[in-house]
Amino acid sequence: MRLFLEMMKVKAVQASAKQDLDWNNLGFEYTKTDFRFSAIYENDAWSEGELITSEIIQIHEGAPALHYAQQCFEGLKAQTAKDGRILLFRPKLNAQRMAITAERLSMPIVPDELFLKGVMEAVRANQSWIPPYGSGASLYIRPLLIGVGENMGLKPAKSYEFRVMVSPVGPYYKSGGLALISLAVSDFDRAAPHGTGDVKAGANYPVGLYATKKAKELGANEALYLDSAEHRYLEEAGSANIIIAQADNKLITPKSDAILPSITRRSIMAIAEQDLGMKIEERAIDLRAEVDSFVEVAACGTAAVLSPVGKIWFDEGWHNFYENGEQVGPVMQELYDLLCQLQCGEREDHLDWTQEVKL
Ligand SMILES: *Cc1c(COP(=O)(O)O)cnc(C)c1O
Repeated sequence: MRLFLEMMKVKAVQASAKQDLDWNNLGFEYTKTDFRFSAIYENDAWSEGELITSEIIQIHEGAPALHYAQQCFEGLKAQTAKDGRILLFRPKLNAQRMAITAERLSMPIVPDELFLKGVMEAVRANQSWIPPYGSGASLYIRPLLIGVGENMGLKPAKSYEFRVMVSPVGPYYKSGGLALISLAVSDFDRAAPHGTGDVKAGANYPVGLYATKKAKELGANEALYLDSAEHRYLEEAGSANIIIAQADNKLITPKSDAILPSITRRSIMAIAEQDLGMKIEERAIDLRAEVDSFVEVAACGTAAVLSPVGKIWFDEGWHNFYENGEQVGPVMQELYDLLCQLQCGEREDHLDWTQEVKL
């Protein structure tokens, strides 16, 4: 305890100073930071939670998280605003989404207050790791909920750990800035109708690794999934939703119960409607029948932010959205600018979407 307090003191002194990192050239990689938040669920109740220093989790070999993927996660970012404040973007929606996911996986819900406390404390304790304003980097926050403890048969765990780890990250797609990415329609499915595609369950992601590998072999950045019943309607990319600009100031996005409801996408659709007066629509989108009406396409999510898509591979060929295959379209550029300005406090936040982490 004494040692811990001493360490806390040293950390507090260091806190005002930033780590010696090459902020402008960070990748989307794990960097070990000083603290993580951990709370334990046992005997039907959550502990208060605390900051700990070890990045290692020791769990029982029978833990349901290991055998039956009773596990889920969230992802959000803290950014340094122009005026130096540290801002989260709509963190309550992440708390709510994790609650929905937990319920679907028969896990105890992490109450909103505990979720937000964990996020806030993890960010605050690691303030020297928060990338400075203007670096293009941010502090990625990864809340994790896992079923732990002794178990053999297929049943829910009796104990759980809720952990929040953070890591400074750069852009998800290496090109940096707003460069075009490419997607390849996958022969494989990500999620079934009425399955778990609409929740952030870890089990949804290893099945996509192979699809991503296949997409990369075609020269694409990521796999793009169609609905698993008919392989006809657009769903989403590996970890990002899809938005499409059409003529007449329209912005459309696929509707399906197998898509993860991206907070970034919901926010962009709202910005498009309210700030740009666009006509927004969430509906089934038949790729082959409608692709010629797509003026601009983008993938969006916390990690991807808004990544314009230059071309899509399907039916054995590339479909290009830009003549020269290179430049970013005006609609996606504007939506990207509006979103980023809002997230880093450069624009009036009239909807109260950002939440400050008081240091
Ligand atoms: C997390 C995730 C997204 C993006 O959601 P955000 O809330 O915007 O970060 C999109 N699709 C999938 C499959 C995801 O896991």
